[in-house]
Amino acid sequence: MMRTATAFWHDSFLAHDHPAGENEAEWTGRLAYREPHPDRPERMRNVNRILRTEIPDRIEWVEPDPATRDQLTRTHEPSYLEELRAFCEQGGGRLTAETGANEHTYRAARHAAGAARSAAEHALSTPDDDVPYALVRPSGHHAQPDRADGFCYLNNVAVAADHVLATRDVDRVAVVDWDVHHGNGTQECFYDREDVCVVGIHNDHRSWDPEHHPQTGNLDEVGTGDGTGYNVNVPLPPGTGDEGYELVLDRIVAPVLEAYDPDLLLVSAGQDPGTVDPLGRNVVTKAGFETLGARIAALADAHAGGNLAIVQEGGYQVSHLAYATLGVLEGALGIDSDVADPLAWIDEDVDSARRAVADAVDHHAEFWPTLA
Ligand SMILES: [Zn+2]
Repeated sequence: MMRTATAFWHDSFLAHDHPAGENEAEWTGRLAYREPHPDRPERMRNVNRILRTEIPDRIEWVEPDPATRDQLTRTHEPSYLEELRAFCEQGGGRLTAETGANEHTYRAARHAAGAARSAAEHALSTPDDDVPYALVRPSGHHAQPDRADGFCYLNNVAVAADHVLATRDVDRVAVVDWDVHHGNGTQECFYDREDVCVVGIHNDHRSWDPEHHPQTGNLDEVGTGDGTGYNVNVPLPPGTGDEGYELVLDRIVAPVLEAYDPDLLLVSAGQDPGTVDPLGRNVVTKAGFETLGARIAALADAHAGGNLAIVQEGGYQVSHLAYATLGVLEGALGIDSDVADPLAWIDEDVDSARRAVADAVDHHAEFWPTLA
């Protein structure tokens, strides 16, 4: 099916920034060069440019309203929202070891959450041949109800899911998160709930901050209480590439969505499993992201009534992110721009990925008979 896209974008996404340093850490003065934080505004400038020049006739650009306080407090603690607002109003600084803010961050984050909310509403209210894409910065999937984490402040996908569950004729929302880092914030938001099923596909990375970000994302984190079984983690080894991710979609995501039968499918689309990403260890190429986009659109048609909204998460190689995101949209829209990946030169480790997927299938089959 040939489709169009609606991109939800706000210029405040370029005004938010973190303090510079040594990669994401504070500058010690040991080095001559104070490096920009990896979550740089240039990430989104590049994505904008490639989408607006390569597939201009396929995308309508829409400026979202910010998420309201009522929309945010379905997901976040009011006291945290007030602390974050005040911190940014006073000029910002470092919130955690790796995550900082400036005077524009709270406004950008509210518009990012608003973009995800609008994308979810759009998915439910417009024909299925138009794909909403919330092209946001800052990202959201590490943000927890009461704290910022991992370059995230407000959990955009969670705000969107909670919004449509509260205001629309929606009983079940599925979230598929292919960002290379575990979406610990999204997991925490819905861990004891059955109305949101979260499938997290991520590198088996370690904690980056023992206080704010313990290691999460393991197979045995399956949810609790009513949510037991509805948190489906798929940790992948370093070196997983196009074939490994396709295997995850075919062997795990498709059977889970078939059984869960959601009213809406939200995708946390972090393109940092992309090859040569400085904060990932996987090697997905633009062609691999085209496959992810095509498969996820087909799965939304088959199992979510065609209701699909894609929300940007990470992606830190500032050139490859743009190619990868173009790939996601080409796949989801069923088009081919003929733009080649300039950085696809590392072979993937298919055998390790196959073993990891088999482990995940074994583990989750207890809750999802369709996996067997
Ligand atoms: Zn990430």
